[in-house]
Amino acid sequence: MNRGLLALALLLSVFGGWWAYRAYRAPDPEKVYVFKGFEGPSHVSRVVRPPAATVPQFDIGGDHRLAVLVTDPTSGWLGFVRGFRARGVPFMLTEDPAVALRHRVVLVYPRISGRLPPATLQALAAHVRSGGTLLAFDQQGGGLEDMFGAGDGIASRARRTLTWATPRGDPRETTLSINASGEDNMDTIGFLAGKAEVLAAYDDGVPAVTCRRVVGRACLMGVDIAALAERGMNGRGEAISRDYVNGYEPSVDILFAWIRDLYVQGETMPWLISPAPSGRDVSIILTHDIDFTRSVVNAKAYADLLRANGLSGTFFMQTKYVKDWNDDIFFNARTVPLLRGLLAEGMELGSHSVAHSRVFKAFPLGDGREAYPDYRPFVIDRTHARGGTVLGELRVSRFLLRKATGADVVSFRPGHLSYPPALPQALAATGYLYSSALPAESTLGYFPFQTTYDRADAALEPEYQFPVAIEDEQAPPLQDRFDAADALIADIAREHGVAVILIHPDVVQPKLGFEARLIAAWRGRAWMGSLRDFGAWWAARDALDVDVAQQGGKWVLSARAGDKAVREVDVILPKGGAHGAARTMTLNLAPGQATTQVLN
Ligand SMILES: [Zn+2]
Repeated sequence: MNRGLLALALLLSVFGGWWAYRAYRAPDPEKVYVFKGFEGPSHVSRVVRPPAATVPQFDIGGDHRLAVLVTDPTSGWLGFVRGFRARGVPFMLTEDPAVALRHRVVLVYPRISGRLPPATLQALAAHVRSGGTLLAFDQQGGGLEDMFGAGDGIASRARRTLTWATPRGDPRETTLSINASGEDNMDTIGFLAGKAEVLAAYDDGVPAVTCRRVVGRACLMGVDIAALAERGMNGRGEAISRDYVNGYEPSVDILFAWIRDLYVQGETMPWLISPAPSGRDVSIILTHDIDFTRSVVNAKAYADLLRANGLSGTFFMQTKYVKDWNDDIFFNARTVPLLRGLLAEGMELGSHSVAHSRVFKAFPLGDGREAYPDYRPFVIDRTHARGGTVLGELRVSRFLLRKATGADVVSFRPGHLSYPPALPQALAATGYLYSSALPAESTLGYFPFQTTYDRADAALEPEYQFPVAIEDEQAPPLQDRFDAADALIADIAREHGVAVILIHPDVVQPKLGFEARLIAAWRGRAWMGSLRDFGAWWAARDALDVDVAQQGGKWVLSARAGDKAVREVDVILPKGGAHGAARTMTLNLAPGQATTQVLN
């Protein structure tokens, strides 16, 4: 090849490359919508693994909390941390039996058998004989059979349900789903009851929960409630729940409620932090997913309804600037004013991803440098997509919503509730505080919770997860199941939980009518509003530290807010009123503010 030809080839390839790059940067507006002058985000999103949580981190507070004596620090005890905090039960963790025994109510987790020296077992027995309460999750040998009135734990992976001897208000609270069938089911322990009262039994008839009164109470629970809660909160409980969404699956809530009642009964001065804002029975978070062309226009009718009722709501917007198998482009200069209109009505704007792919859960994490307009995820069909990353979906959608509308975007919901294992750390890396990424039924309860790295048992992430209780895609149509939705919220209200409602504004009526009925039905009884507003309340409540202790013959409640203002948080003192009656105190604190109040 002569030099001239070589130079021409070089020139052509350089020019061709430049031309191809230009064509990519300025794509066919029918296929990719590019906002003039929008490029970013320019910073890099870095995923960091937080340090693993340790037992000593939770060795906190005074002696009137529920104590968990951890006999194996590699066990699922983080389930107690997340579970008790969400439900407002004061607790502490320790590996030191002497510290645990300063508390009236002691849980020994995960194993009492073969984990503790004889002297400690004797001290635990003496604790019960002097009026204390002990709950263990197994019992085999060790000489405590007589005190528990039950023993010889029989392990089995085949058990699926637990049924209380005394029926509860709802059949799904009476018979709890506690295990999956198949390969990943969990061990349960059954007990041969002697003198103990059998409070619940498994589907094979073997006792699951027993208690014996020996001055105090000695109880056994054969379900690893902390591990079960972890499985649910980590989004791995779907195989245990009986339905997918819109039903009632409260296994974890009811087991925690039982332990809470054990604490309240066994502790001289128990207290609880209400999971609902002061004066409310339940919290309803009103969310709307905009993932369809017409929805952007229809959203206004929903915002109008909320504003007319003095409420806010969340609108999760898909920043759809790429035309693909899913739909046409509907995030562009034409729709941005509509989004600004939602903000002007006091609504929250959250992200509903860029691609809205059903296989988002299988997207690679990405390098944290994904930026608009070069990031162009493309949905090929129901089960395929190309060019998308978890970080790209989060950071590019957030950048665009903020840049185009000025909204402070802190909430995220993936399309189709497709939930990648890395989502918690990716949300933390991209500035989100709240997400709603899985159905409540798969968590086996109706409480928000703090997330963990890789949806595993070791390290807490800063953001909170708010699972979906009611949505509008399952048959029959939403408007035909108002009574079922209303009944489910009433079920959730018994434990003062949280009902997240998901409505797609793909049509105005009849779904708008459903939302209007729901608001009217729960006005006054429920806190109602956006994920951002409730999330801020929840995070401040979670960071609030409350303790009750005796000082100079008087009971004193001390409280300190974290770095967020605490508003309308109720502290319930079941025995703190005159003559041991129940009493409620409402806390309002500025960030970091502390208060002490004498109770009697
Ligand atoms: Zn969607």
